[in-house]
Amino acid sequence: MVMGISLVGPPELTQALAEMLKAFFPAGAEQEISVELRTYSRGDRHGVSCRVNGAIEHVAELDQGQDLKRLSRVAVLKCLQELQPEQKLPWGILTGIRPTKIVRRLLDRGMGEREVAGILARDYLIQPDKAALALEVAGLQRQYLLKPEEASKLVSVYVGIPFCPSRCAYCSFPSAVGQGMELNVYLNVLEQEIKALGRALADRGLAVQTVYIGGGTPTILSTQELARLLQRCHDYLVSDKTVELTLEAGRPETLDREKLKVMSEAGAARVSINPQTMVQRTLERISRNHTADQVREAFWLARECGFENINMDIILGLPGETISEVMFTLEEVSKLRPDSLTVHALALKRASKLRDRTDALSEAGAQGPQMQNAAEQTARGLGMRPYYLYRQKQILNNMENIGYAMAGKESVYNIQIMEERQSVFGAGASAASKIVNPADWSLTNFQHPKSPEAYYKRWQESLAERLHLLDRLLRD
Ligand code: SF4
Repeated sequence: MVMGISLVGPPELTQALAEMLKAFFPAGAEQEISVELRTYSRGDRHGVSCRVNGAIEHVAELDQGQDLKRLSRVAVLKCLQELQPEQKLPWGILTGIRPTKIVRRLLDRGMGEREVAGILARDYLIQPDKAALALEVAGLQRQYLLKPEEASKLVSVYVGIPFCPSRCAYCSFPSAVGQGMELNVYLNVLEQEIKALGRALADRGLAVQTVYIGGGTPTILSTQELARLLQRCHDYLVSDKTVELTLEAGRPETLDREKLKVMSEAGAARVSINPQTMVQRTLERISRNHTADQVREAFWLARECGFENINMDIILGLPGETISEVMFTLEEVSKLRPDSLTVHALALKRASKLRDRTDALSEAGAQGPQMQNAAEQTARGLGMRPYYLYRQKQILNNMENIGYAMAGKESVYNIQIMEERQSVFGAGASAASKIVNPADWSLTNFQHPKSPEAYYKRWQESLAERLHLLDRLLRD
Protein backbone atom coordinates (compact mmCIF):
# COMPACT_ATOMS: atom_id res chain seq x y z
CA MET A 1 0.00 0.00 0.00
CA VAL A 2 1.31 3.44 -0.86
CA MET A 3 1.41 5.64 2.18
CA GLY A 4 0.34 9.22 1.75
CA ILE A 5 -0.27 10.16 -1.87
CA SER A 6 -0.98 13.82 -2.26
CA LEU A 7 -2.26 14.65 -5.71
CA VAL A 8 -2.87 18.26 -6.65
CA GLY A 9 -4.10 19.52 -10.02
CA PRO A 10 -7.17 19.96 -12.24
CA PRO A 11 -9.65 17.20 -11.25
CA GLU A 12 -10.14 16.09 -14.86
CA LEU A 13 -6.41 15.27 -15.00
CA THR A 14 -5.78 13.89 -11.53
CA GLN A 15 -8.74 11.48 -11.51
CA ALA A 16 -7.08 9.04 -13.88
CA LEU A 17 -3.69 9.32 -12.20
CA ALA A 18 -4.44 7.69 -8.86
CA GLU A 19 -4.70 4.27 -10.50
CA MET A 20 -1.34 4.68 -12.22
CA LEU A 21 0.32 5.77 -8.98
CA LYS A 22 -1.05 2.73 -7.19
CA ALA A 23 0.24 0.50 -9.96
CA PHE A 24 3.70 2.08 -9.89
CA PHE A 25 4.32 1.42 -6.21
CA PRO A 26 4.24 -2.32 -5.51
CA ALA A 27 1.79 -3.64 -2.96
CA GLY A 28 3.33 -3.35 0.49
CA ALA A 29 5.59 -0.40 -0.36
CA GLU A 30 5.60 2.45 2.08
CA GLN A 31 6.09 5.73 0.33
CA GLU A 32 5.32 9.38 0.86
CA ILE A 33 4.61 10.96 -2.48
CA SER A 34 3.32 14.33 -3.57
CA VAL A 35 2.38 15.02 -7.18
CA GLU A 36 1.55 18.49 -8.40
CA LEU A 37 0.14 18.98 -11.87
CA ARG A 38 -0.33 22.35 -13.58
CA THR A 39 -1.61 23.19 -17.01
CA TYR A 40 -0.15 26.27 -18.69
CA SER A 41 -0.79 28.52 -21.66
CA ARG A 42 1.98 30.80 -22.94
CA GLY A 43 0.85 32.55 -26.09
CA ASP A 44 -0.20 29.76 -28.42
CA ARG A 45 1.76 27.14 -26.47
CA HIS A 46 -0.15 24.91 -24.04
CA GLY A 47 0.92 22.00 -21.95
CA VAL A 48 1.18 20.39 -18.56
CA SER A 49 3.94 20.41 -16.00
CA CYS A 50 4.37 17.84 -13.27
CA ARG A 51 6.38 18.09 -10.09
CA VAL A 52 6.95 15.11 -7.82
CA ASN A 53 8.04 15.57 -4.21
CA GLY A 54 8.63 19.23 -4.98
CA ALA A 55 11.81 18.48 -6.88
CA ILE A 56 11.54 16.28 -9.97
CA GLU A 57 9.82 18.07 -12.81
CA HIS A 58 8.68 17.14 -16.32
CA VAL A 59 6.92 19.38 -18.79
CA ALA A 60 4.91 18.06 -21.73
CA GLU A 61 3.81 20.45 -24.45
CA LEU A 62 0.56 19.94 -26.27
CA ASP A 63 0.71 19.56 -30.06
CA GLN A 64 -2.40 19.79 -32.17
CA GLY A 65 -4.69 16.80 -31.72
CA GLN A 66 -2.90 15.56 -28.60
CA ASP A 67 -4.72 14.51 -25.50
CA LEU A 68 -3.90 16.45 -22.35
CA LYS A 69 -4.85 13.52 -20.11
CA ARG A 70 -2.36 11.24 -21.85
CA LEU A 71 0.33 13.91 -21.68
CA SER A 72 -0.26 14.36 -17.94
CA ARG A 73 0.21 10.67 -17.38
CA VAL A 74 3.41 10.66 -19.40
CA ALA A 75 4.76 13.62 -17.41
CA VAL A 76 3.89 11.96 -14.09
CA LEU A 77 5.33 8.57 -15.06
CA LYS A 78 8.57 10.18 -16.26
CA CYS A 79 8.91 11.87 -12.87
CA LEU A 80 8.23 8.61 -11.04
CA GLN A 81 10.77 6.75 -13.16
CA GLU A 82 13.36 9.36 -12.29
CA LEU A 83 12.45 9.01 -8.63
CA GLN A 84 12.75 5.21 -8.72
CA PRO A 85 14.61 4.13 -11.88
CA GLU A 86 14.56 0.44 -10.92
CA GLN A 87 10.73 0.40 -10.81
CA LYS A 88 9.02 -0.13 -14.18
CA LEU A 89 5.41 -0.14 -15.31
CA PRO A 90 5.44 -2.74 -18.12
CA TRP A 91 2.37 -1.20 -19.73
CA GLY A 92 3.54 2.37 -19.18
CA ILE A 93 0.72 4.85 -18.68
CA LEU A 94 -2.02 2.34 -19.60
CA THR A 95 -4.14 1.21 -16.69
CA GLY A 96 -7.61 0.22 -17.85
CA ILE A 97 -7.22 0.38 -21.61
CA ARG A 98 -6.93 -2.67 -23.81
CA PRO A 99 -3.52 -2.19 -25.39
CA THR A 100 -4.48 -3.99 -28.60
CA LYS A 101 -7.13 -1.36 -29.34
CA ILE A 102 -4.45 1.30 -29.52
CA VAL A 103 -2.28 -0.91 -31.72
CA ARG A 104 -5.14 -1.63 -34.08
CA ARG A 105 -6.07 2.03 -34.37
CA LEU A 106 -2.51 2.82 -35.42
CA LEU A 107 -2.29 -0.13 -37.84
CA ASP A 108 -5.62 0.94 -39.35
CA ARG A 109 -4.03 4.29 -40.15
CA GLY A 110 -1.58 2.42 -42.36
CA MET A 111 1.41 2.46 -40.01
CA GLY A 112 3.95 -0.35 -40.06
CA GLU A 113 4.77 -2.44 -36.98
CA ARG A 114 8.03 -0.61 -36.29
CA GLU A 115 6.32 2.74 -36.33
CA VAL A 116 3.58 1.46 -34.02
CA ALA A 117 6.18 0.05 -31.60
CA GLY A 118 7.89 3.45 -31.59
CA ILE A 119 4.64 5.23 -30.72
CA LEU A 120 3.85 2.76 -27.95
CA ALA A 121 7.26 3.45 -26.40
CA ARG A 122 7.23 7.23 -26.86
CA ASP A 123 3.59 8.20 -26.26
CA TYR A 124 2.58 5.49 -23.79
CA LEU A 125 5.96 4.49 -22.22
CA ILE A 126 5.18 0.81 -22.84
CA GLN A 127 8.15 -1.56 -22.40
CA PRO A 128 9.43 -3.20 -25.65
CA ASP A 129 8.40 -6.78 -24.71
CA LYS A 130 4.83 -5.68 -24.01
CA ALA A 131 4.70 -3.62 -27.20
CA ALA A 132 5.82 -6.72 -29.14
CA LEU A 133 3.14 -8.82 -27.41
CA ALA A 134 0.39 -6.32 -28.19
CA LEU A 135 1.51 -6.21 -31.84
CA GLU A 136 1.55 -10.00 -32.10
CA VAL A 137 -1.94 -10.32 -30.60
CA ALA A 138 -3.37 -7.51 -32.73
CA GLY A 139 -1.84 -9.10 -35.84
CA LEU A 140 -3.44 -12.47 -35.11
CA GLN A 141 -6.81 -10.93 -34.35
CA ARG A 142 -7.08 -9.08 -37.65
CA GLN A 143 -8.53 -12.09 -39.46
CA TYR A 144 -11.42 -12.23 -36.94
CA LEU A 145 -12.36 -8.56 -36.74
CA LEU A 146 -15.44 -7.54 -38.64
CA LYS A 147 -15.69 -4.83 -41.26
CA PRO A 148 -18.40 -2.21 -40.61
CA GLU A 149 -20.82 -3.84 -43.07
CA GLU A 150 -20.35 -7.24 -41.35
CA ALA A 151 -20.74 -5.72 -37.88
CA SER A 152 -24.16 -4.41 -38.99
CA LYS A 153 -25.32 -7.98 -39.62
CA LEU A 154 -23.57 -10.15 -37.03
CA VAL A 155 -23.73 -10.02 -33.22
CA SER A 156 -22.61 -12.30 -30.40
CA VAL A 157 -24.66 -13.43 -27.42
CA TYR A 158 -23.50 -14.10 -23.86
CA VAL A 159 -25.78 -16.29 -21.76
CA GLY A 160 -25.05 -16.02 -18.04
CA ILE A 161 -25.60 -18.64 -15.34
CA PRO A 162 -24.51 -16.79 -12.19
CA PHE A 163 -24.58 -19.80 -9.89
CA CYS A 164 -21.66 -21.84 -8.53
CA PRO A 165 -21.33 -24.95 -6.39
CA SER A 166 -19.31 -22.94 -3.82
CA ARG A 167 -17.50 -19.64 -3.74
CA CYS A 168 -13.80 -19.44 -4.61
CA ALA A 169 -11.85 -17.25 -2.20
CA TYR A 170 -10.37 -14.93 -4.85
CA CYS A 171 -13.65 -14.40 -6.75
CA SER A 172 -15.45 -11.07 -6.87
CA PHE A 173 -18.13 -12.14 -9.36
CA PRO A 174 -21.58 -11.95 -7.75
CA SER A 175 -22.50 -15.58 -8.28
CA ALA A 176 -24.94 -17.28 -5.97
CA VAL A 177 -24.44 -20.74 -4.54
CA GLY A 178 -27.48 -22.11 -6.29
CA GLN A 179 -29.81 -25.03 -5.67
CA GLY A 180 -32.49 -27.01 -7.49
CA MET A 181 -35.66 -24.88 -7.34
CA GLU A 182 -33.84 -21.59 -7.54
CA LEU A 183 -31.97 -22.69 -10.65
CA ASN A 184 -35.17 -23.86 -12.24
CA VAL A 185 -36.90 -20.52 -11.71
CA TYR A 186 -33.87 -18.71 -13.10
CA LEU A 187 -33.74 -20.96 -16.13
CA ASN A 188 -37.40 -20.32 -16.93
CA VAL A 189 -36.88 -16.56 -17.04
CA LEU A 190 -33.60 -16.89 -18.93
CA GLU A 191 -35.33 -18.98 -21.59
CA GLN A 192 -37.92 -16.23 -22.04
CA GLU A 193 -35.17 -13.68 -22.52
CA ILE A 194 -33.29 -15.89 -25.03
CA LYS A 195 -36.49 -16.34 -26.99
CA ALA A 196 -37.35 -12.62 -27.00
CA LEU A 197 -33.77 -11.66 -27.85
CA GLY A 198 -33.46 -14.23 -30.64
CA ARG A 199 -36.72 -13.10 -32.24
CA ALA A 200 -35.82 -9.43 -31.95
CA LEU A 201 -32.45 -10.02 -33.61
CA ALA A 202 -33.99 -12.09 -36.41
CA ASP A 203 -36.66 -9.41 -37.02
CA ARG A 204 -33.84 -6.93 -37.59
CA GLY A 205 -31.98 -9.23 -39.97
CA LEU A 206 -29.19 -9.87 -37.46
CA ALA A 207 -27.51 -13.26 -37.12
CA VAL A 208 -25.59 -14.57 -34.12
CA GLN A 209 -21.95 -15.26 -34.87
CA THR A 210 -20.93 -16.71 -31.47
CA VAL A 211 -22.76 -17.85 -28.35
CA TYR A 212 -20.91 -18.01 -25.05
CA ILE A 213 -22.60 -19.68 -22.09
CA GLY A 214 -20.64 -18.49 -19.09
CA GLY A 215 -21.00 -18.03 -15.37
CA GLY A 216 -20.71 -18.64 -12.59
CA THR A 217 -20.65 -22.26 -13.54
CA PRO A 218 -23.17 -23.22 -16.26
CA THR A 219 -22.50 -26.92 -15.68
CA ILE A 220 -24.05 -26.58 -12.24
CA LEU A 221 -27.31 -27.17 -14.18
CA SER A 222 -28.58 -30.74 -14.24
CA THR A 223 -28.18 -32.73 -17.46
CA GLN A 224 -31.85 -32.09 -18.32
CA GLU A 225 -31.62 -28.37 -17.58
CA LEU A 226 -28.47 -28.07 -19.65
CA ALA A 227 -30.11 -29.90 -22.54
CA ARG A 228 -33.09 -27.51 -22.30
CA LEU A 229 -30.87 -24.42 -22.28
CA LEU A 230 -28.83 -25.63 -25.24
CA GLN A 231 -32.03 -26.44 -27.12
CA ARG A 232 -33.30 -22.88 -26.55
CA CYS A 233 -30.01 -21.51 -27.86
CA HIS A 234 -30.49 -23.62 -31.00
CA ASP A 235 -34.14 -22.64 -31.34
CA TYR A 236 -33.57 -18.89 -31.13
CA LEU A 237 -29.91 -17.96 -31.53
CA VAL A 238 -27.90 -20.47 -33.53
CA SER A 239 -28.03 -20.41 -37.35
CA ASP A 240 -25.77 -21.29 -40.25
CA LYS A 241 -23.95 -18.01 -39.51
CA THR A 242 -22.97 -19.21 -36.03
CA VAL A 243 -19.32 -20.22 -35.91
CA GLU A 244 -18.88 -20.96 -32.22
CA LEU A 245 -20.85 -22.19 -29.22
CA THR A 246 -18.78 -22.19 -26.02
CA LEU A 247 -19.78 -23.57 -22.67
CA GLU A 248 -17.81 -22.73 -19.58
CA ALA A 249 -17.55 -25.87 -17.49
CA GLY A 250 -15.27 -24.08 -15.03
CA ARG A 251 -15.56 -26.46 -12.11
CA PRO A 252 -14.65 -30.07 -12.96
CA GLU A 253 -16.75 -31.50 -10.11
CA THR A 254 -19.88 -30.41 -11.97
CA LEU A 255 -19.09 -32.57 -15.02
CA ASP A 256 -20.00 -36.13 -15.81
CA ARG A 257 -20.25 -38.22 -18.96
CA GLU A 258 -23.97 -37.58 -19.44
CA LYS A 259 -23.61 -33.80 -19.31
CA LEU A 260 -20.60 -33.81 -21.59
CA LYS A 261 -22.48 -35.96 -24.10
CA VAL A 262 -25.44 -33.59 -24.05
CA MET A 263 -23.11 -30.63 -24.58
CA SER A 264 -21.19 -32.31 -27.36
CA GLU A 265 -24.35 -33.46 -29.16
CA ALA A 266 -25.74 -29.93 -28.92
CA GLY A 267 -22.70 -28.60 -30.75
CA ALA A 268 -21.10 -26.81 -27.80
CA ALA A 269 -17.78 -27.50 -29.49
CA ARG A 270 -15.63 -25.30 -27.28
CA VAL A 271 -15.54 -26.03 -23.58
CA SER A 272 -13.52 -24.55 -20.73
CA ILE A 273 -12.35 -26.76 -17.86
CA ASN A 274 -10.50 -24.61 -15.37
CA PRO A 275 -8.06 -25.88 -12.78
CA GLN A 276 -6.67 -22.41 -11.82
CA THR A 277 -3.88 -24.42 -10.15
CA MET A 278 -3.01 -28.12 -10.06
CA VAL A 279 -1.55 -27.84 -6.55
CA GLN A 280 -3.95 -29.60 -4.20
CA ARG A 281 -2.97 -27.50 -1.18
CA THR A 282 -3.76 -24.27 -3.05
CA LEU A 283 -7.07 -25.61 -4.34
CA GLU A 284 -8.09 -26.14 -0.72
CA ARG A 285 -6.76 -22.73 0.32
CA ILE A 286 -8.84 -20.96 -2.31
CA SER A 287 -11.96 -23.04 -1.55
CA ARG A 288 -12.21 -24.59 -5.00
CA ASN A 289 -13.79 -27.74 -3.53
CA HIS A 290 -12.38 -30.04 -6.21
CA THR A 291 -9.17 -31.99 -6.57
CA ALA A 292 -6.45 -31.83 -9.20
CA ASP A 293 -7.40 -35.41 -10.12
CA GLN A 294 -10.94 -34.30 -10.86
CA VAL A 295 -9.52 -31.80 -13.35
CA ARG A 296 -7.59 -34.58 -15.12
CA GLU A 297 -10.62 -36.91 -15.12
CA ALA A 298 -12.97 -34.22 -16.44
CA PHE A 299 -10.49 -33.32 -19.16
CA TRP A 300 -10.09 -36.91 -20.43
CA LEU A 301 -13.82 -37.50 -20.19
CA ALA A 302 -14.40 -34.42 -22.35
CA ARG A 303 -11.91 -35.73 -24.92
CA GLU A 304 -13.67 -39.12 -24.89
CA CYS A 305 -16.98 -37.35 -25.48
CA GLY A 306 -15.56 -35.77 -28.62
CA PHE A 307 -14.45 -32.30 -27.52
CA GLU A 308 -11.66 -31.12 -29.76
CA ASN A 309 -11.44 -27.60 -28.44
CA ILE A 310 -10.80 -27.55 -24.69
CA ASN A 311 -9.57 -24.45 -22.92
CA MET A 312 -8.01 -24.39 -19.47
CA ASP A 313 -7.67 -21.33 -17.21
CA ILE A 314 -4.89 -20.89 -14.69
CA ILE A 315 -4.17 -18.05 -12.26
CA LEU A 316 -0.69 -16.75 -11.45
CA GLY A 317 -0.02 -15.42 -7.96
CA LEU A 318 -2.51 -17.49 -5.96
CA PRO A 319 -1.89 -17.29 -2.20
CA GLY A 320 1.02 -19.42 -1.03
CA GLU A 321 2.21 -20.10 -4.58
CA THR A 322 5.71 -19.33 -5.80
CA ILE A 323 7.29 -20.03 -9.16
CA SER A 324 7.74 -23.73 -8.27
CA GLU A 325 3.97 -24.27 -7.73
CA VAL A 326 3.26 -22.45 -10.99
CA MET A 327 5.83 -24.63 -12.79
CA PHE A 328 4.14 -27.73 -11.37
CA THR A 329 0.73 -26.54 -12.61
CA LEU A 330 2.15 -25.78 -16.05
CA GLU A 331 3.75 -29.24 -16.27
CA GLU A 332 0.52 -30.95 -15.26
CA VAL A 333 -1.55 -28.89 -17.70
CA SER A 334 0.98 -29.62 -20.47
CA LYS A 335 0.47 -33.35 -19.99
CA LEU A 336 -3.21 -32.86 -20.82
CA ARG A 337 -2.42 -30.84 -23.97
CA PRO A 338 -5.41 -28.48 -23.99
CA ASP A 339 -6.20 -26.56 -27.18
CA SER A 340 -5.99 -23.21 -25.47
CA LEU A 341 -4.65 -21.90 -22.20
CA THR A 342 -5.83 -18.71 -20.55
CA VAL A 343 -3.33 -17.29 -18.10
CA HIS A 344 -4.73 -14.85 -15.56
CA ALA A 345 -2.73 -12.79 -13.13
CA LEU A 346 -4.42 -12.66 -9.74
CA ALA A 347 -6.60 -9.58 -9.38
CA LEU A 348 -8.19 -9.09 -5.99
CA LYS A 349 -11.20 -6.89 -5.75
CA ARG A 350 -13.00 -5.78 -2.63
CA ALA A 351 -15.73 -8.38 -3.04
CA SER A 352 -13.31 -11.31 -2.87
CA LYS A 353 -12.99 -13.35 0.31
CA LEU A 354 -9.20 -13.20 0.39
CA ARG A 355 -9.17 -10.60 3.07
CA ASP A 356 -5.61 -9.46 3.21
CA ARG A 357 -5.42 -8.46 -0.38
CA THR A 358 -2.20 -6.50 -0.01
CA ASP A 359 -0.31 -9.43 1.51
CA ALA A 360 -1.66 -11.82 -1.08
CA LEU A 361 -0.46 -9.62 -3.91
CA SER A 362 2.90 -8.64 -2.43
CA GLU A 363 3.77 -12.25 -1.55
CA ALA A 364 3.75 -13.29 -5.20
CA GLY A 365 4.45 -9.89 -6.73
CA ALA A 366 8.20 -10.17 -7.11
CA GLN A 367 7.89 -13.45 -9.01
CA GLY A 368 5.02 -12.32 -11.21
CA PRO A 369 7.07 -11.69 -14.36
CA GLN A 370 8.95 -14.98 -13.89
CA MET A 371 5.62 -16.82 -13.58
CA GLN A 372 4.34 -15.10 -16.65
CA ASN A 373 7.44 -16.02 -18.66
CA ALA A 374 7.10 -19.65 -17.59
CA ALA A 375 3.45 -19.68 -18.69
CA GLU A 376 4.33 -18.10 -22.01
CA GLN A 377 7.10 -20.61 -22.68
CA THR A 378 4.78 -23.49 -21.83
CA ALA A 379 2.02 -22.22 -24.09
CA ARG A 380 4.40 -21.56 -26.96
CA GLY A 381 6.06 -24.93 -26.34
CA LEU A 382 2.64 -26.55 -26.82
CA GLY A 383 2.35 -24.76 -30.18
CA MET A 384 0.01 -21.98 -29.00
CA ARG A 385 0.13 -18.28 -29.81
CA PRO A 386 -1.23 -15.37 -27.77
CA TYR A 387 -4.53 -14.27 -29.31
CA TYR A 388 -6.21 -11.98 -26.81
CA LEU A 389 -5.19 -9.99 -23.81
CA TYR A 390 -6.77 -7.66 -21.34
CA ARG A 391 -5.84 -5.94 -18.15
CA GLN A 392 -7.63 -5.43 -14.87
CA LYS A 393 -7.31 -3.12 -11.94
CA GLN A 394 -5.47 -4.34 -8.83
CA ILE A 395 -3.81 -7.06 -10.83
CA LEU A 396 -0.63 -8.84 -9.75
CA ASN A 397 2.43 -6.80 -10.70
CA ASN A 398 0.38 -4.65 -13.06
CA MET A 399 0.50 -7.55 -15.55
CA GLU A 400 -2.16 -8.75 -17.97
CA ASN A 401 -4.37 -11.74 -18.69
CA ILE A 402 -3.45 -13.57 -21.88
CA GLY A 403 -5.30 -16.18 -23.92
CA TYR A 404 -3.06 -18.58 -25.87
CA ALA A 405 -4.46 -20.98 -28.46
CA MET A 406 -3.44 -23.46 -31.12
CA ALA A 407 -4.01 -22.14 -34.64
CA GLY A 408 -7.72 -22.25 -35.46
CA LYS A 409 -8.72 -22.91 -31.81
CA GLU A 410 -8.93 -19.25 -30.81
CA SER A 411 -12.20 -18.21 -29.20
CA VAL A 412 -13.88 -15.83 -31.62
CA TYR A 413 -16.18 -14.66 -28.81
CA ASN A 414 -13.21 -13.69 -26.60
CA ILE A 415 -11.78 -11.61 -29.41
CA GLN A 416 -15.09 -9.88 -30.15
CA ILE A 417 -15.87 -9.04 -26.52
CA MET A 418 -12.39 -7.65 -25.87
CA GLU A 419 -11.87 -5.77 -29.10
CA GLU A 420 -15.35 -4.24 -29.17
CA ARG A 421 -15.85 -4.43 -32.91
CA GLN A 422 -19.15 -6.30 -32.64
CA SER A 423 -22.28 -5.86 -30.53
CA VAL A 424 -22.58 -8.44 -27.78
CA PHE A 425 -26.00 -9.02 -26.20
CA GLY A 426 -25.97 -10.41 -22.68
CA ALA A 427 -28.84 -12.55 -21.39
CA GLY A 428 -29.22 -13.38 -17.71
CA ALA A 429 -28.41 -11.80 -14.36
CA SER A 430 -25.04 -10.00 -14.21
CA ALA A 431 -24.65 -10.26 -17.98
CA ALA A 432 -23.16 -7.26 -19.72
CA SER A 433 -24.09 -6.02 -23.18
CA LYS A 434 -21.97 -3.89 -25.48
CA ILE A 435 -23.72 -2.21 -28.36
CA VAL A 436 -21.24 -1.08 -30.97
CA ASN A 437 -21.91 1.49 -33.66
CA PRO A 438 -20.12 0.17 -36.79
CA ALA A 439 -20.07 3.69 -38.28
CA ASP A 440 -17.43 4.89 -35.82
CA TRP A 441 -16.94 1.89 -33.46
CA SER A 442 -18.32 3.89 -30.54
CA LEU A 443 -19.67 1.79 -27.73
CA THR A 444 -22.54 1.80 -25.24
CA ASN A 445 -22.34 -0.54 -22.25
CA PHE A 446 -25.32 -2.04 -20.42
CA GLN A 447 -25.23 -4.09 -17.25
CA HIS A 448 -27.99 -6.45 -16.20
CA PRO A 449 -28.98 -6.41 -12.53
CA LYS A 450 -26.70 -8.58 -10.43
CA SER A 451 -29.25 -10.42 -8.31
CA PRO A 452 -31.54 -12.95 -10.01
CA GLU A 453 -34.57 -11.34 -8.29
CA ALA A 454 -33.84 -7.91 -9.74
CA TYR A 455 -33.14 -9.52 -13.11
CA TYR A 456 -36.57 -11.25 -13.16
CA LYS A 457 -38.22 -7.86 -12.73
CA ARG A 458 -36.08 -5.88 -15.16
CA TRP A 459 -35.04 -8.09 -18.09
CA GLN A 460 -37.82 -6.94 -20.43
CA GLU A 461 -37.16 -3.28 -19.77
CA SER A 462 -33.43 -3.83 -20.22
CA LEU A 463 -33.88 -5.68 -23.50
CA ALA A 464 -36.19 -2.94 -24.83
CA GLU A 465 -33.59 -0.32 -23.93
CA ARG A 466 -30.82 -2.15 -25.81
CA LEU A 467 -32.99 -2.82 -28.85
CA HIS A 468 -34.04 0.81 -28.93
CA LEU A 469 -30.41 1.88 -29.19
CA LEU A 470 -29.70 -0.79 -31.77
CA ASP A 471 -32.63 0.40 -33.90
CA ARG A 472 -31.34 3.95 -33.79
CA LEU A 473 -27.90 2.81 -34.91
CA LEU A 474 -29.27 0.63 -37.71
CA ARG A 475 -31.48 3.49 -38.94
CA ASP A 476 -28.79 6.21 -38.94
S1 SF4 B 1 -16.29 -20.88 -10.19
FE1 SF4 B 1 -15.72 -18.91 -11.09
S2 SF4 B 1 -17.52 -17.58 -10.81
FE2 SF4 B 1 -17.77 -19.36 -9.43
S3 SF4 B 1 -16.99 -18.68 -7.47
FE3 SF4 B 1 -15.28 -19.71 -8.54
S4 SF4 B 1 -14.21 -18.09 -9.68
FE4 SF4 B 1 -16.20 -17.26 -9.02
